[in-house]
Amino acid sequence: MKKLKLAHLYPKLLNIYGDIGNIITMKKRCEWRGIELEVNEINIGDTIGGHDIYFIGGGQDREQIEVSKELQKHKSFLQSERDRMAVFLGICGGYQLMGHYYQPHKGDKLLGISLLDAYTVAGNKRFIGNVTIKTGLVEPDTLVGFENHSGLTYLEGSTEPIGKVIIGNGNNGQDNTEGARYKNVFGTYMHGSFLPKNPQFADYLLELALGSKPEPLEDTIENLAHASLVGKKY
Ligand code: GLN
Repeated sequence: MKKLKLAHLYPKLLNIYGDIGNIITMKKRCEWRGIELEVNEINIGDTIGGHDIYFIGGGQDREQIEVSKELQKHKSFLQSERDRMAVFLGICGGYQLMGHYYQPHKGDKLLGISLLDAYTVAGNKRFIGNVTIKTGLVEPDTLVGFENHSGLTYLEGSTEPIGKVIIGNGNNGQDNTEGARYKNVFGTYMHGSFLPKNPQFADYLLELALGSKPEPLEDTIENLAHASLVGKKY
């Protein structure tokens, strides 16, 4: 039996708008294929061992301060995990901390762990609403979610966006990009939860973690959920 290990980083602090749904989706999609997915919750003070997949959710600035501090202790380890092509998915606040830093409205910069060549600065407008993007990474080539952030994220160097915004604001509301990818590290502003309604992206992450395409599943309901949100503004 195939086995994968997933680390859920700081679920007690970063978990809003149903981010836990991403973990449930990964777990179920593995289980339905006879793959065992071991999920380890990593909380403040815990050590982090090697995992195939790392997940970090979103949260408020307050929680991000604590996680930012804690993550500094694990920065070089997590960078080495990235460089051996482990899979990472960060949503919103977690995405911001996977870059170099997040500068909130007030107070000090919150340092990230530079898994992505990206930085975030708080804007004076809050982006709230549905998002549809077009991506070259998966088929169907649309991804859908719900964003709620004031941070504006800018990508640099070899870090590429996940896709182009069709509906919503994405990274910064200016350059039409959404999300980020470098090696197998992915960040996105799409909550919602993200993976239940983008099953093709969940399988893409599993493919990267397994090193081979997982067998197809009967996804009628998941695909309907996806289709119901494509192009939907409100
Ligand atoms: N504090 C961040 C922002 O508003 C993250 C918000 C979130 O994770 N939903 O930009």
